[in-house]
Amino acid sequence: MNKNTLKHIVKCSICSKDVLDHMTKCPFCNSELVSKYYTGFSEEKSQQIKKYSNIISFIILGISVLYFIVKNNF
Ligand SMILES: [Zn+2]
Repeated sequence: MNKNTLKHIVKCSICSKDVLDHMTKCPFCNSELVSKYYTGFSEEKSQQIKKYSNIISFIILGISVLYFIVKNNF
């Protein structure tokens, strides 16, 4: 192992084995690793959540519109 690789070694918070800091999952215990590059919500993730909540509210709106149409016709 060279010096450059050693710089990127962090300890898994679950099994405390040495893992590389770019890994998102521990290869030993398979638990999610908290990378120093991803603290909290990343910009990408919060945008993804926004997108999904938009889709969900659109679906709910569609269902309630359909419900009112069906209710008024019967
Ligand atoms: Zn682990």
